[in-house]
Amino acid sequence: MRKIIVIGAGIGGLYAAKPLSELGYNVTVIEARERPDLGYPWYDSVAARTFSSVGLKVPEDVCIPKQVLNYYAPSGEGKIKQPDRAGKSLDVHREKLIRFLLSRLEPHCSLRFGERVTSLVIEDGAVKGVVTDKGRCEADLVIDSSGVFSSCRRATPDDFCLNDPLCENDYIIAYREVYSRVDVGKAPAPNVYLYPAGLMLAWVKSEPDMDGVDVFLGSYKEISPEEKERALAFLRAHNPCLGGTLLSTRKECVPLRYPLGVLSANGYAVIGNAAFMTKPFCGSGIEISLKAAKALVSVVRGLGDAPFTAENLWKYTLLCAKDFGAYHAAQYVFRQMIECLLPEDLDFLFTSGLFDKGVVAIASLDSGKYMKEVDVRAFYRGIVSAFRRKDILAVVKGAFTYALRAYFLTRSLPGKYDAKKVKEWKAKYDALMRAAPKTVAELYRASKE
Ligand SMILES: Cc1cc2nc3c(=O)[nH]c(=O)nc-3n(C[C@H](O)[C@H](O)[C@H](O)COP(=O)(O)OP(=O)(O)OC[C@H]3O[C@@H](n4cnc5c(N)ncnc54)[C@H](O)[C@@H]3O)c2cc1C
Repeated sequence: MRKIIVIGAGIGGLYAAKPLSELGYNVTVIEARERPDLGYPWYDSVAARTFSSVGLKVPEDVCIPKQVLNYYAPSGEGKIKQPDRAGKSLDVHREKLIRFLLSRLEPHCSLRFGERVTSLVIEDGAVKGVVTDKGRCEADLVIDSSGVFSSCRRATPDDFCLNDPLCENDYIIAYREVYSRVDVGKAPAPNVYLYPAGLMLAWVKSEPDMDGVDVFLGSYKEISPEEKERALAFLRAHNPCLGGTLLSTRKECVPLRYPLGVLSANGYAVIGNAAFMTKPFCGSGIEISLKAAKALVSVVRGLGDAPFTAENLWKYTLLCAKDFGAYHAAQYVFRQMIECLLPEDLDFLFTSGLFDKGVVAIASLDSGKYMKEVDVRAFYRGIVSAFRRKDILAVVKGAFTYALRAYFLTRSLPGKYDAKKVKEWKAKYDALMRAAPKTVAELYRASKE
């Protein structure tokens, strides 16, 4: 019986483990943490189609209706309401989701908790298994589902084209906290703020299980206690419901980077946050991890008894690039644009109508089919007012052109695996994506001259 090892109980790896075991593989999940510590004790948003599109029927208590968000410019003004696609998004309880995914695996797969994978076994240019803090395990295929800090992926040889370093600004450090709720006669409004009080992102929304206020504070850098207090004061000024008693706190990291590009090698495939499968605007990686897992399973199914070579697994990389990778590469460029704008220009964009709710819909979802949600008249008004701001128009146009290049370059991955061509493609892709922040910032500077 051929053997598959999944490193880490990440969403994608956990989902894939079941169908792979049903295909007759001996599947083992090795997770560093103990079982009760898995998942996150809060709700995160997903599109309602997320689970049904991969054939998952999650128990009713896992999801609740989504709190539809209001986005605010740095000044705290300029509200943009997320499109209210009633019933089309859900808030999912992260611990319950992981518990459900784990329950599907028993008794089909072997689950090993409290065991850390320390390295991959690589022989003759192929992954042949893993070494853990408890010993060595051989495998025909290793699926790396160990999250953004995957040390195994980063230690792969250059030939794999997978060992991108994790750089500053590739992820944000996030505090997720629950505070007591002050009774102001209505439930806390779900409000998201861009660049509030020196941070990158912050929000408040209802925490239904503790009847508190769910607070998110995110920054590219460590948040000092003083910065945290400043951000909380900003949130309290705009949200009087936010009380002063801290009920729970947790610090995590969310990758917001452009996709890895190459996702598979001899005997190895990478999935979820380990491959930066998050939308580069908001880090929403649950749906994408599940989609990728479904793609990986379909490729493995198609292989039958064929070996897990880089050639044979290449289709997995291709499917992901076409399904969401190209779109995310383009989104990443737009994020660079947003990030380089001065706060007053962001305020302008939020109030001009140019950033109409439909644009937010497109930015926050991975499909152009939400285009119909654009409020055309508001968008038109935005364009007219933007014409008075030639500097902003220039940078938007420049970023759009650059984003298109990123999109089409991602889709131009070699159709068949050829080590030399893949290496050349990856070099081009990385050069384009790494240059995006600087190029967009220079466009912005030039537009101001
Ligand atoms: C605060 C916050 C808010 C978010 N909000 C949303 C949202 O609203 N919507 C959304 O879709 N997504 C959201 N996300 C992102 C989402 O959590 C991830 O994109 C998604 O879960 C995919 O991550 P993952 O499962 O690949 O990795 P992880 O969740 O990081 O899981 C990796 C697992 O691997 C284990 N591991 C790591 N190293 C090893 C090792 N060496 N050996 C064995 N095991 C190891 C870890 O213990 C962990 O259990 C949010 C994330 C955070 C932190």
